[in-house]
Amino acid sequence: MADQPGPAAGLRPNELEAMYAISRVVARAEDIDSAMDEITQHTRAVFIFDSAVLYRLQAGPDQLEPLFARVVGRGRSAPADLVWGEVAAKQALETGQMVIQEAEAQDAERDRLDEHFYLALPMMAGGRITGALVFIRFGGPSYSSEQINLASFIATHVSQLFERQLLVERVANLEAERRLTRLQDEFIAMVSHELLTPLGFIKGYTTTLLRKDAAWDEKTLLEFLQIIDEESDRLSELIENLLDSSRLQSGTLRIELKPLLLADLLGDILSRVQTRYNNLRMEADLSQAEIPVAADAKRFGQIMDNLIANAVKYAPGSDLRLWVVPAEGGAEIHLADSGPGIAPEHLPNLFKRFYRVPERSGGVRGTGLGLFICEQLVHAHHGTIRVESEPGRGTTFVLWLPIVPPNHLNDEDDHA
Ligand code: ADP
Repeated sequence: MADQPGPAAGLRPNELEAMYAISRVVARAEDIDSAMDEITQHTRAVFIFDSAVLYRLQAGPDQLEPLFARVVGRGRSAPADLVWGEVAAKQALETGQMVIQEAEAQDAERDRLDEHFYLALPMMAGGRITGALVFIRFGGPSYSSEQINLASFIATHVSQLFERQLLVERVANLEAERRLTRLQDEFIAMVSHELLTPLGFIKGYTTTLLRKDAAWDEKTLLEFLQIIDEESDRLSELIENLLDSSRLQSGTLRIELKPLLLADLLGDILSRVQTRYNNLRMEADLSQAEIPVAADAKRFGQIMDNLIANAVKYAPGSDLRLWVVPAEGGAEIHLADSGPGIAPEHLPNLFKRFYRVPERSGGVRGTGLGLFICEQLVHAHHGTIRVESEPGRGTTFVLWLPIVPPNHLNDEDDHA
C-alpha cells in the first residue's frame, strides 16, 4: 500500500459494494439514527467491530455527546465501552488525527474480551472537527492498514451525513428564528394598531375640545366626552387583556376559587348584561343551575362577559340564549346566538392566542386574545370550553364546570 493511486484503489469488490451502499444511504438519509443503523449493517459485512460509537462535539470544551451507539458483537458491556470510546474520541478530536489504541501485550490471566482495540476517526463538517467515530474490537484483532483504509472511507461518508445533519439543523434554527421574528413583528404591529386606534380617538376628540377658536354646544360636548370615555375603557380593556394573556402564559395569574352557586354567578351576569346592552335580548333558563361550583366570581364574570361581547360583535342583532344542563359530574353552561356562525375549518384554531377568523373579523375590532383568555381561565376553574357552530345558523359556546363535592362546600379558602 506504499503509493496509493486513489482512495478506492485498494478495495475489494465486496468492500466497494459496501461503500456504494453506504454512500447511497448518506445521499437519501433523513435522520442520522436510522442512517447510522443502515451504515453499521453495511459496515459489518466488510469490517470487523464489536461496537461503534458516534460522538458529537457540543458547544463548550470537552462536551462529547454520544449521538449513536451500537454493540453488534462480543462482550455487550456497552456503557463501559462508551466511556472508553470517549477517551479515544477525545484524542482524535484534540489531534484531528485518527487514533489507534490497541491492548497491551496479552495477559494469559485476563479475559481476552477485556482487551479493547479502539480505532477513533475525527469527523469534519464545514471545515471544523465536529465529532468522532469510534470502532471497538473486544479481544482484537489489530487493525490492519487495509482495514484502517476502509474505516477512513466509512468515516468520510459518516462525516458527510454529519455535515448534512448540521446543515438541516442550521436551516431549521434559522427558520425558527425567522418565524419568531415574523411573529414578534406581526404581534407588535397588531398590538400597536389596536392600541393606537382608541388612542387616536381620544387624542383627536380632546384636541378638538381644546380648540380655542371653537365653542361647542352641550350636546356635542357630551357626545365627544362619551367617545373619549368609551375609547379610554377600550384602551384599558385591551391592556388588561394583554396583561392577562401574558400572566396566563407565565402562570402568574392569581385565581381564587370559592364554592359558589352557579345560579347566583349567572344571575349577576344577566343583570350586568341588562345595564350594559340596552337592545340585547337574552333568554335565560337557570332552572338547573342550582348547583355549587368552585369559581372565582370576577374571573368567571370575565369569561361570560367575553363570550357575550363576542356574540354582540360577531352576531349583531341576534337574540341570545343561556341555559344550564347537568353533565358528567358538573354542569354545562350553553350560550347560543343565531348569528352568521363560524366555518368548520376555523373551529380548531378559535381558542389559540391571536387567532381571528379572517373573513368575519374584518370590520370588527379585536385582537384574537378573548377566547384564548377564556379557555385558560376555564382551565383554571378545572373546566372545559368548546364551541359548536354552523355557518348561517349560529354559534354555541359550551362551558363545563365540575360540581363542588358536598364536603368541600364550607371550604372558603380553596385556592387554585
Ligand atoms: P377577537 O374578538 O378579539 O377577534 P376572540 O378570541 O374573542 O378575539 O375571538 C376569536 C374569533 O372568533 C373572532 O375574531 C371571531 O371571528 C370569532 N368569533 C368569536 N365569537 C363568535 C361568535 N359568537 N360568532 C361568530 N364568530 C365568533
